Amino acid sequence: MGLIHKMPSLPEAITASAVTSNAVANGSHPCLVLNADYQPLSYYPLSLWSWQDAVKAVFLDRVSVVGQYEQHVRSANFAMPVPSVVALKEFVPQNRTPAFTRFNLFLRDGFACVYCGCGDELTFDHVIPRRLGGTTSWENIVAACSTCNLKKGGRSPQTSGMTMIRPPTKPSIYELQAQGRRFPPGYLHDSWLDFLYWDVELEI
Ligand SMILES: [Zn+2]
Repeated sequence: MGLIHKMPSLPEAITASAVTSNAVANGSHPCLVLNADYQPLSYYPLSLWSWQDAVKAVFLDRVSVVGQYEQHVRSANFAMPVPSVVALKEFVPQNRTPAFTRFNLFLRDGFACVYCGCGDELTFDHVIPRRLGGTTSWENIVAACSTCNLKKGGRSPQTSGMTMIRPPTKPSIYELQAQGRRFPPGYLHDSWLDFLYWDVELEI
């Protein structure tokens, strides 16, 4: 970047101790990490690095700086704006399968009950109850509000007559990331917005 006055000889020179600005503290100035296609590596959790990691990656030539904070990191030999958005130079394939976690399951179902669509007091429901051979899997667990959960009791959907808004399936990482865009984190630096397409932004 043009504002780097002098490159230190070793990436190790970029450490927290090299910083003299009080404005750039540990834990502040997180950096949004984009894949080489300028899409966030992950939406949920949002892919963020500490500014220290971002600065190191710049000097290791692994990323391009796309956005910057106003604050600088400085040492005796160099100064550079703190990166706010970086893009990986090498594309990281997104072929991971999502972990079967409580959070990801809620995310798949949009933090809403699959029976009535409300988001109150969400719990998990075995679509086919365990006593009837139902497994604890993506295909048999859904988010359900406690009212619907009680109403359904230990019955199968056929017996209870309760229909699901959509049948449970194992999501792809892309589907979860698409869901994640609907639930933005509380804090977004201005320079990140160009790279994030949160549905809430579109609704404004
Ligand atoms: Zn419900």
